Amino acid sequence: MPDSSSPVPTPLAAIPGIGPQRAELLAKLGLLTHEDLLHFVPRRYEDRRHLAPLSQAQEGQSITVRGKIHQAKAVHWGSLRLEITVAPETLEKRDDIVIARWYAYKPWGIKEGLEVFLFGKVTRDKKGRWVMNQPDYEIVHHDAESYIHIDRIAPVYNLTEGLTQRVLRRIMFEASQRVPFSAPEFYPAPKGLMSRQEAFRIIHFPETLEAEHKARQRLAYDEFFVLQCVVAQRRATRVQVSRARAPHPDDLSQRWLAALPFALTNAQKRVMQEINKDLAHGPPMNRLLQGDVGAGKTFVAIYAMLKAVEAGEQAALMAPTQILAEQHALNLRRWFEPLGIRVDLFTGNTKGKKVDRLQGGEIDLFSSAGDRKPAPKQVGSVVIGTHALLYDRYAADKLGLIVIDEQHKFGVLQRLALSRKGQNPDILVMTATPIPRTLGMTLYGDLDVSILDELPPGRQPIMTKCRSSKELEKFWAFLVKQLGEGRQAYIIYPLVEESEKIEAKSVKIEFERLQKLLPHVKLGLLHGQLNRVEKERVMTAFRAGEIQALLSTSVVEVGVDVPNATVMLIENAERFGLAQLHQLRGRIGRGEHPSYCVLVGEPKSVEGWRRLKIMEETGDGFRIAEEDFKIRGPGNIFGTEQSGLPPLRFAHLDTDFDLLIRARSDATKFIQRDLTLAEWPGLRDKMHAGGVSAVSLVAVS
Ligand code: ADP
Ligand code: MG
Repeated sequence: MPDSSSPVPTPLAAIPGIGPQRAELLAKLGLLTHEDLLHFVPRRYEDRRHLAPLSQAQEGQSITVRGKIHQAKAVHWGSLRLEITVAPETLEKRDDIVIARWYAYKPWGIKEGLEVFLFGKVTRDKKGRWVMNQPDYEIVHHDAESYIHIDRIAPVYNLTEGLTQRVLRRIMFEASQRVPFSAPEFYPAPKGLMSRQEAFRIIHFPETLEAEHKARQRLAYDEFFVLQCVVAQRRATRVQVSRARAPHPDDLSQRWLAALPFALTNAQKRVMQEINKDLAHGPPMNRLLQGDVGAGKTFVAIYAMLKAVEAGEQAALMAPTQILAEQHALNLRRWFEPLGIRVDLFTGNTKGKKVDRLQGGEIDLFSSAGDRKPAPKQVGSVVIGTHALLYDRYAADKLGLIVIDEQHKFGVLQRLALSRKGQNPDILVMTATPIPRTLGMTLYGDLDVSILDELPPGRQPIMTKCRSSKELEKFWAFLVKQLGEGRQAYIIYPLVEESEKIEAKSVKIEFERLQKLLPHVKLGLLHGQLNRVEKERVMTAFRAGEIQALLSTSVVEVGVDVPNATVMLIENAERFGLAQLHQLRGRIGRGEHPSYCVLVGEPKSVEGWRRLKIMEETGDGFRIAEEDFKIRGPGNIFGTEQSGLPPLRFAHLDTDFDLLIRARSDATKFIQRDLTLAEWPGLRDKMHAGGVSAVSLVAVS
């Protein structure tokens, strides 16, 4: 049945057992409504169904026993302790007795003569008797249909201080018995899957593990369905829009191509053609460009921007960091200005009046030194910026193209906010992080994909070695030799400042130490706490070769391009993700000289070493990302905030591929029938909660 009004969340107070105090504790877990409780997935389950005879128990095993309380007594022994002795009705031998102990609290309702279930780990005491410490228990009551804690598959939840597993489990039990009020179907229920109500009950208190699996599938399907509706809606609306495209000569792009000092790679040529096709017909371009570090994405961006300027439009390039935006501005200026295209920089530091003047085209952010040739007649302009471009202060009238560099650093939401600027601008998003397929379909399901799978010729492979910190001495000697030959180096640390909590090196301390250790080397210091002017000064000096070795945090991770830098040392390498190490390493190996990367780490485990060794074996970003994905899961690589992906509680991006495919095809058909979802406000709410669709509808209407 259609759900004609959006469901109002049920307050927690409606659930038995929740008073103001417990509500406060639940709030600490982020649980504010009945719906929240239902979505609070058990961390794991404990199979407490099978009664085990004690005679067959093994020490250290967690088992369920059922028996009668023979003796319950408080024992004082340091602190309060309650000890009960449980034995089956028919006491055959001593070994059938178990002693349960609780420290400091008295289990409620435990009395001699009652029958109980106990669940816990059994150990032997000094006298050889079976003992359970702080077991979970349930008093056998012959009228009840089911037990909450024992004699079933019991859910185990994450807790907060002051809330016990028992109390929370009971609350969840009550909540899961009352599902219908707060979890209606919000779209026509998918065939062959159980109802939502049932799924919510079962996910918390499953009768079997198979049932739990099916329940999770249903709820995972719902999550995928919502996401894919968002994607399908965006795709459908996009196709409906048609951009008026002025026919234009392509002399700017042709002149630029002719002036390039080297040949484009075939991959670059192919992608430029794909972009050309997008731009030649109606709907706005919406393209994802994936290409490993150093593949030459910037040139593709330049090409697309030139096409926009040729059409009399403005183009914007958004970069994730200040440093990168500045570098792009410098680099692009070199190509654009001779063609008469002005390059503006717009970042968080571009304030007040400057903004107006900037948009009026009057200011020059790079106060030019001396001997520049007189600028050719201005034929257009482009703007380079950080996420500051998203704010209202930046408003371009003729914004025709948006390029987003290193997309994985931005969220879907930010992409959408930017696309709202201007009139259905063309969008090109670029990333060096290969995206696993499922995640790509979720995050970028509405994008066409181009791949730069070829590095420019003449690249020297980077020699990578994993070393322990004992071997650092040798490295310094090697470094000094390389610097002596005119090369430059990056030295990367995980921390800015020393931390009591984290045992790792900090860039500030090491800077001081290395100044003493290597007095003849010109060192530079870069980290996120420096202000913009200082950062700019350091990067400029490094580019100019005035700094030989740059000590930095991972702020240089993306995009920085100094071809003369050929040596990189990464300290505490175990603290970085593989994809991040790959990005960092991509700062070297950009020029004609051989490059060397040394990963210094002390991984605590064999697994940790194996992980680092992958970096020695391959320079293939796709393989590295896959390994990273396997080891750390999608959440850590693309933190939900960063990815713009709403939290997936039930769905697993790495294992539920078939479910995703089905949800995607169902959602596409569903949206084709009813684009606005007028009949399904519940679904629309969920799509908004995912944070995406409202914006996208605004974007095109
Ligand atoms: P990324 O894809 O990591 O953003 P860049 O666009 O920064 O890569 O390019 C990396 C380096 O390769 C730059 O120094 C750039 O000038 C150079 N480059 C790009 N394309 C080519 C090419 N076709 N031939 C030679 N060098 C190239
Ligand atoms: Mg780049």
